[in-house]
Amino acid sequence: MKRLRPARPELEDISAYDAKDVRAEVRLSANENPHNLPHELLDKLADRVRSDIEFNRYPDPLCGHLRSLIAEANGLEPTNILVGNGGDELILDLVLAWGGPGRALADLPPTFSMYGIDARMTGTAVIEVPRLPDFSVDAEALMGVVAERDPDIVVISNPNNPTGTMVPETVLIDLLNATDALVLVDEAYFEFSRQTARPHMERHPNLVILRTFSKAFSLAGLRAGYLLAHEDVVRELTKVRQPYSVNRFTQVAAALTFRERVVFEAGIRETLRFRDRLVHGLGALSDVEVFPSEANYVLFRVQHASAVWRDLLHDHSVLVRDFSRTPGLEDCLRVTVGSEAEVERFLAAMEEIMASKRAASHFGMSASPTGRIGKVGK
Ligand code: PMP
Repeated sequence: MKRLRPARPELEDISAYDAKDVRAEVRLSANENPHNLPHELLDKLADRVRSDIEFNRYPDPLCGHLRSLIAEANGLEPTNILVGNGGDELILDLVLAWGGPGRALADLPPTFSMYGIDARMTGTAVIEVPRLPDFSVDAEALMGVVAERDPDIVVISNPNNPTGTMVPETVLIDLLNATDALVLVDEAYFEFSRQTARPHMERHPNLVILRTFSKAFSLAGLRAGYLLAHEDVVRELTKVRQPYSVNRFTQVAAALTFRERVVFEAGIRETLRFRDRLVHGLGALSDVEVFPSEANYVLFRVQHASAVWRDLLHDHSVLVRDFSRTPGLEDCLRVTVGSEAEVERFLAAMEEIMASKRAASHFGMSASPTGRIGKVGK
């Protein structure tokens, strides 16, 4: 037969997560740490590779060593920790275990797209509770949905990717008091916001916190994330997870990184400083609206955002993330806080693009914002 049977019909409406692998000199599109692991950690890792990583053996399925380090740092037991192949894998595990046909996930868009993608992929209904125009959570609508539609999972990205917004603690407490659904608080950017829902875990066994090594800790390329959760949650997740998803090398690198995480502190403080610089620099440009952020990225709105995105890339080799086609994020771009040089280069590029846009409109030239001037009209 020369035909291919179609995949599951649910996949028809799903678009693959589009992590554009576009080449650019300055990559500010994926909220990564701009620096690789510090040399001292790379040296230690190299020593471990030479001396005692048995690549011929399967890895420890539950990452015992790393798990105890994370447990201890968070005042929890190892049974409260689950490590995954990036936070992404853990989100899928949660949806596999608590979602599925006949179940529902409450999503608060605009937000990280994987929650909705994983839900649709597993036949879980998605109940959208759109954020308010300032991107804060619509608490009243959320509580209404919880009361009336009783979703099985509620996901709050905190800070929210891509808007940078935090949910007020009172809203979180009200939510936790109102439901026994699994409440996932995604703290992928916790090291930048320095705020956590951790204190509420004792009272609320349904609270699950997600963290990652991909952002502050420079390990996006190795894939490691972890959950803090009640041991009953972890036990259920071990039934759906891939047993060997976190490889030996990643386990060693992540444990080393976690043990020595204080070396990242200076970089995190720098990122917070450069974030202010980004916010002020962008705010100084007329026609750009900047949204405050508690994370290592900044969302901004500019007319003809897609054209600005293209000019940044093509004329300045600066890659940011274009959200302008995402509902609620029309004309929005997100820029990661890079190194100082990257931030300055991005701001200089934006100034140039916006200046040529102004010049073009002053001379009655084309609406192309991009300095690729063409005459208005026919
Ligand atoms: N949650 C949020 C909010 C994120 O932004 C990301 C990464 N983009 C993740 C989870 C997943 O991160 P990773 O799989 O790299 O750990």
